[in-house]
Amino acid sequence: MKLTYIFIFGLIFSLKINAQTHNDFHQSLVDQVNYENIEENLTDFANFGEKQLGSSAATNALNWMVGLYQSWGYTNIEQHEVNQWGQTGYNLIVTKTGSVYPDTYIIIDGHYDTINGPGANDNGSGTAIILEMARILKDINTEYSIKFIHFTAEEWGLIGSYQYVEDIVIPQNLDIRLVFNIDQVGGIAGDINDTITCERDESSPNYNNSQSADFTNQLMTCMELYSDLDINLSYAYGSDYVPFQEEGFVITGLYEFNESPYPHSSQDTVANVDFDFIHQVAKGTMGALCHFAQAFNVMETDDQNSGSVITFPNPVDKILTVKTLRSGEKQIQLNDLSGKIIFQDVFSDNEFHIDTSKMPDGIYILNILDGKSVSNQKIIVQHK
Ligand SMILES: [Zn+2]
Repeated sequence: MKLTYIFIFGLIFSLKINAQTHNDFHQSLVDQVNYENIEENLTDFANFGEKQLGSSAATNALNWMVGLYQSWGYTNIEQHEVNQWGQTGYNLIVTKTGSVYPDTYIIIDGHYDTINGPGANDNGSGTAIILEMARILKDINTEYSIKFIHFTAEEWGLIGSYQYVEDIVIPQNLDIRLVFNIDQVGGIAGDINDTITCERDESSPNYNNSQSADFTNQLMTCMELYSDLDINLSYAYGSDYVPFQEEGFVITGLYEFNESPYPHSSQDTVANVDFDFIHQVAKGTMGALCHFAQAFNVMETDDQNSGSVITFPNPVDKILTVKTLRSGEKQIQLNDLSGKIIFQDVFSDNEFHIDTSKMPDGIYILNILDGKSVSNQKIIVQHK
């Protein structure tokens, strides 16, 4: 829930913002966004009750989220202690390591504390979406690292996010590409909720504003490509991206356009949100997160020989080793993403080495062809 109610309704965008194009692989991940999962997780979230900092409901919700992340196989799970007005609670930070830029982060965040009610919309909606993103992306390669962050004490004045920036982001000099905040995207049950507000930074300091505008344009394009929603552009304020924004980081965010009257009351229940709307927001969010973190597919189109080609290390700095169980003569080819052949040779052994030390950093496709089949894999060249 926003702290102030100064609204300028921006233009409704319906045209393509830039040259970003639809990505089939990202669409395949968007297609995995599951209505029932979101409904179930949001219902569980609401059932914990009012989750103010220091409450047992907040602890229960935190432990429940940790359990979900663990059940999906995440291991880099951190709890960051937050203290305010004699109460203690925790931000939850789950990190997924990127393949190309492991030390550069896309942060997707939303608060999980609630005030004066169960907070199904504010911010169970954002919480359930972030959880669904994390579930689907667990074993998906992304070029950038992703931090899934659930902040506490947002409702007390962005306390959890302020303390995170102060305790972790600044001292550790975290390299953050983008902070993508989701707060209150539940819509209103029974209403037509067909528009999502994308928020860009229009406040001081100004030097990060143009990059925020650029990322927000990309967010709007992704919402159009991967959801059924119309887009409203507005400005960012009153949620957990603010502490990052104030330190010069680049932010963007999502907020409902049809603003619910129920947040911060006992009426902010599952019965009063629009799950169809949340599902559409989640689909657009997945498309955007895949785009921001650059999710990519490691292809293995081998039929019966699937897995019979092993490459390592990947990412590679100098020598790429290619191992295969296939006997006989094989053609090996390395292409860049435009299809240009960078390297090719023929080999008969089960092991082959390619010197990548003079190749520019980037993504390449390794093709191995024998008489029967082709296998291709994405290879990342990254010089240390
Ligand atoms: Zn909120």
